[in-house]
Amino acid sequence: MLPRLFFGNSRPRAVPKTTNVTFRLRYAPSPTGYLHIGGARTALFNWAYARRMGGVFVLRVEDTDRARSTDEYEAAILDGMRWLGIDWDEGPGVGGPFEPYRQTERFDRYAAVRERLIDEGHAYRCFCSAERLTEVRDAQRAAGDTPRYDRACRGIDAAEARRRVEAGEPAVVRFRVPEGGETVIPDLVSGDVTFSNTEVDDWIMARPDGSPTYNFCVVCDDSDMQITHVLRGEEHLTNTPKQVLLFRALGLEPPLYAHLPLMLGTDKKKLSKRTGDTSLQDYRAKGYPPEAVVNFLCLQGWSLDDKTTIFSLADLVANFEPTGVSRGGAIFDPEKFLWMAGEYLHAEDIESLAERCAPFVIEAGQMTADELSERGAWFRAAIESERERIRLYSELPARLAYLFVPDDAVVYEEKAEKNARKQEERVTVLRAFLDWAAPQIEGLDPSDTARVATLRDATRDWVKENDIKFPTLFQPLRCALTGASGGADLFDSIALLGAQHTKRRIEAGITRLA
Ligand code: GLU
Repeated sequence: MLPRLFFGNSRPRAVPKTTNVTFRLRYAPSPTGYLHIGGARTALFNWAYARRMGGVFVLRVEDTDRARSTDEYEAAILDGMRWLGIDWDEGPGVGGPFEPYRQTERFDRYAAVRERLIDEGHAYRCFCSAERLTEVRDAQRAAGDTPRYDRACRGIDAAEARRRVEAGEPAVVRFRVPEGGETVIPDLVSGDVTFSNTEVDDWIMARPDGSPTYNFCVVCDDSDMQITHVLRGEEHLTNTPKQVLLFRALGLEPPLYAHLPLMLGTDKKKLSKRTGDTSLQDYRAKGYPPEAVVNFLCLQGWSLDDKTTIFSLADLVANFEPTGVSRGGAIFDPEKFLWMAGEYLHAEDIESLAERCAPFVIEAGQMTADELSERGAWFRAAIESERERIRLYSELPARLAYLFVPDDAVVYEEKAEKNARKQEERVTVLRAFLDWAAPQIEGLDPSDTARVATLRDATRDWVKENDIKFPTLFQPLRCALTGASGGADLFDSIALLGAQHTKRRIEAGITRLA
């Protein structure tokens, strides 16, 4: 039996670290869809707590809904977890002492527990037809009662029930909820949550084909796998009394639960596609840095302290405590998320940034993988020229697009062209600049920031010496080189384009802007 680690009347306090019990936590996704951001948060918190307490983190795949579960979803969920930096000590691909970790491979175990519960009188077979159940519920609703099973089959003798099943009569197996009394859940987030047992239905543990239901499998597995703490979404709170009663029927102490607040949109409504993407892989596909995703998801109901917004997975592990999770206030603000993505991207190490931007540049058809490795230094310089102006990796290709167009087909934005044309001396100045700069840009390497800076300073001096106003050179020059009215530092652009393309674009500009 698991030792009871905590039982209190009010909001619980942290479990002392000195306990010699191994903390065992799990994340138990159902592979019926991609990893939801709420699920990702649940996984992160369970993982972080296991790591902080020197415990074990188990990954269990709850694939009993065979019609909706797919291998593709399972693979995507596991992949999403790895992407966030979550590893598991036991589970698919890793193994462990309580194998298998996929529920559909544990059906024999559930059948054995089911039979034991029936033999001990904690569960019973129910032969009520769907029609009868509907009639019962309709009558209860009409009388203003909460619809529930009227427990008609509770009294059937177990031997008699077995004979009927063996004769082929379809039956479900229901849990026999104790009559009277209460079930108290000492929730690590909300404190004691009390349910009257009369509120708990005689819920179905196994369907007529023998397949076990969610609440039943979870209890079998959480007990078999010796799970000590269950952190999961608040939407599971109504399942918890059912599960706790089943643990007790098995003569076991349930784990400690922490129900995490629902993640809400800025409209305070449940997060849905309407308010933004809800699947982790959407954010990955959009080019959010995984560290930003971790940071942002952790802030959904938890905080490091009153003031720190930016923190790492390591900070989470060093500090996470389920009792520090708030009861509400998990507001998912997409704008803040985007801002946070930018904070991470701006500070990211260039090697990692280049690696993560590469797929987007390849996807956009700008460079092949081979070109990227041949021209790695150039690519890194190109990223550096735009880093401050993007927040997501996926935003890079649009910013670099000007570098990949033919020199005579640079797309002039309306505003850029207008600004350029405002400069009456544009053609003369562009021509003079070209003549003066041509020898200086020969062999200019964009990663040679010192030489780029020298050219920048020299140009400024040249402009002043020739009594040219800055916009008279820079507006037409920017338009000719990039087609945009703003963007990267012009000298970075010149170095990235290289002497030949720079000269051709200026020539083209002289013609096009004449
Ligand atoms: N398979 C359940 C889900 O995906 C897990 C619930 C639990 O953590 O007990 O919601």
